Amino acid sequence: MQAASATVSRRLLSRLRDVMAGGGSAQDRLNKVVKLIAMDMVAEVCSCYVMRAGEVLELFATEGLHKSAVHKTRLRVGEGIVGHIAGSARPLALSDAQAHPAFAYRPETGEDIYRSMVGVPIIRGGRVMGVLAVQNRTQRHYTEEEIETLETVAMVLAELVTSGELVVAEELKPVDGLGLLPLRLEGVRLTGGIGMGLAVPHEPRVSVQRLVAENPEEELARFRDAIASMHSRLDELFSAPELDGGEHKDVLEAYRMIAEDAGWIARISEAIRTGLTAEAAVQKVNEDMRVRMSHVSDPYLRERLHDLQDLTNRLLRHLAGGSGTAAGGELPEDFILVCRSMGPTELLDYDRRKLRGVVMEEGSPTMHLTIVARALDIPVIGRVKDALARIEAYDPVILDGEHGQVFIRPSDDIQEAFANAVRVREERQAAYAALRDVPAVTRDGVAVELLLNAGLLVDLQHLEETGADGIGLYRTEIPFMARPHLPDVEAQTLLYSRVLEHAGGRPVVFRSLDVGGDKVLPYWRSSEEDNPALGWRSIRITLDCPAVLRQQLRALLRASVDRELKIMFPMIADVSELDRARALLDMEIEHERRLGRALPSAVRVGTMLEVPGLAFQLREVLRRVDFVSVGSNDLTQFLFACDRGNPRIAERYDPLSPGMLRFLRQVRIKCDEAGVEISVCGEMAGKPLEALALLGLGFRRLSMVAPAVGPVKTMIRSVDLGPVRDYLERLIDKGETDLRTPLRMFALDHDIAL
Ligand code: PEP
Ligand code: MG
Repeated sequence: MQAASATVSRRLLSRLRDVMAGGGSAQDRLNKVVKLIAMDMVAEVCSCYVMRAGEVLELFATEGLHKSAVHKTRLRVGEGIVGHIAGSARPLALSDAQAHPAFAYRPETGEDIYRSMVGVPIIRGGRVMGVLAVQNRTQRHYTEEEIETLETVAMVLAELVTSGELVVAEELKPVDGLGLLPLRLEGVRLTGGIGMGLAVPHEPRVSVQRLVAENPEEELARFRDAIASMHSRLDELFSAPELDGGEHKDVLEAYRMIAEDAGWIARISEAIRTGLTAEAAVQKVNEDMRVRMSHVSDPYLRERLHDLQDLTNRLLRHLAGGSGTAAGGELPEDFILVCRSMGPTELLDYDRRKLRGVVMEEGSPTMHLTIVARALDIPVIGRVKDALARIEAYDPVILDGEHGQVFIRPSDDIQEAFANAVRVREERQAAYAALRDVPAVTRDGVAVELLLNAGLLVDLQHLEETGADGIGLYRTEIPFMARPHLPDVEAQTLLYSRVLEHAGGRPVVFRSLDVGGDKVLPYWRSSEEDNPALGWRSIRITLDCPAVLRQQLRALLRASVDRELKIMFPMIADVSELDRARALLDMEIEHERRLGRALPSAVRVGTMLEVPGLAFQLREVLRRVDFVSVGSNDLTQFLFACDRGNPRIAERYDPLSPGMLRFLRQVRIKCDEAGVEISVCGEMAGKPLEALALLGLGFRRLSMVAPAVGPVKTMIRSVDLGPVRDYLERLIDKGETDLRTPLRMFALDHDIAL
């Protein structure tokens, strides 16, 4: 059966090749193709619909339907069966098409006499470019092989549709009516920093010209050679010294696993045996996977899809005889890459000495590219709508990673302002670096502990650079998100040991797994929730899956042998949760003891305070913990009932409001009275004015992202804290609603460096 279908498709493919190579206009070739397929599939009708601007599918060629309907019949995506196929990007075979709920009768086509129908989407680069459909008068069952044949033809047609001969290429892109005027686009900051340079569109797609091969054995040999040279190039790329160690290594290893996946290689080989060239086979397997996975919302699988696309492009370039690199041709001295999305290894192909940033249409903070870019300190802005259509090659671009904005063809003054900002930033950076070894002490002698928030091994290098006192918050979830499975005890032990090793003797507060909400683990699919921020997340998950928490605690104990272990539980809303988490920790300590294993010299347990309700149980909480860390991000979200991820209301409530500050003051006083260490580890702690307020309220331990250490230390060293405390006390209880403005004015009046 397999062999028979392979011959059918090989015969069809070689006829197709003759048609495509046979000259004539694109329309002529399309007409011939539909005729050929109708004949080959013994169908009365074969039609090709092409996507036009505005998401409309236009009948472009038909064998069997009324010719007068060509270029007249138009269906919106989702309308009729053809629109349905385009909308779902999946093939659909119906033995009784008219009974399908999406059926829409178009009298001008004369299709009412045809009963059965099969259609496949014409896809290029994950976008539906049209639909190819076949109809029969009788009720007919279309086989899997027939659907596959149609998909292969659709792939050939995708080349024709995107060639610009049928529909001008411009029409296939979203249009920007603004011509060459300066433009500002907004996106999401994925990694921070400012980059300036000329735009270089990342064009990883290699156009596959030759589709049908005469000699499958030769193609298989070419394919094997390309795979071998690709593997050795990947070895080379991954061994770059700056990529040594860190979670990005996991990302690259996961990538390598796909590259070496026997199933993937076998599927391509099989497609070659049906008569496709190696290139066409690679392309086909990729499109098949994309279509199959296009509706998957699981972030891990979506990541795999990016990896697969990256790999496909790479393999196609190897087949074309190059070195497989995405970075073809001369590159400007300073350049910004613009892309729809990008795999992690494609980024490595570009010269890092010239690459100033990446602008992406897609992207998320946890995607593989982001993790690698962060390790390499390259600014990235994601989710910039229509970036590729709006940014032309060699357009001057400024990428402002701090504010998630991109300036295209900026005016001279904007360019100058940013060039200044970069210079000032560099100067400031140098000034902050000079502060590395001086203590964070106020002018009136109050010492403040400055700690770092970290989540990747690369973040630990900032300990040295900033001179921070330790890690106040190590978010353990990022490595869990970069892997295909839950890391086992051994892998976690290794990771935590390396964190501690990098930290030297400095303290590290490990936070137990804090996932859920927007941080989804691939292997823990939870059901959809109406309010994920208030849902099954964080400690609620790990208490429901105690084995996971126990494994993590075991790994932390093992990594901390003979030194102090500081462990903190997130999202505690009720003392009983703390007790249950503590009980699991005690079980693990006992377990290690029974095994005769060495233990940490001390185990100190803390809780995050990010659910306001916990503040009303402080008496009980403080008897149970060694330290408390205020997670002001979630605390603000819950105190004001304001979704922290919703940009529309992000600026609506100010943490520097009397309500929030009174809350924090109360918590700080209770902790001090109980002799329990307290710190703040939300974003608030890293902003100089907010940090000033926290110091005024009596906080002496602040944990923040590395770039915030310099500015906060500078502020601390410029301040006389006594007057700030008195002023803030009066201000909070004065009945004012806006505290930010008066506090800022006070700082200005008193030469406090903000
Ligand atoms: C917080 O909520 O303030 C916090 C530090 O935790 P995360 O931002 O990881 O939720
Ligand atoms: Mg939190």
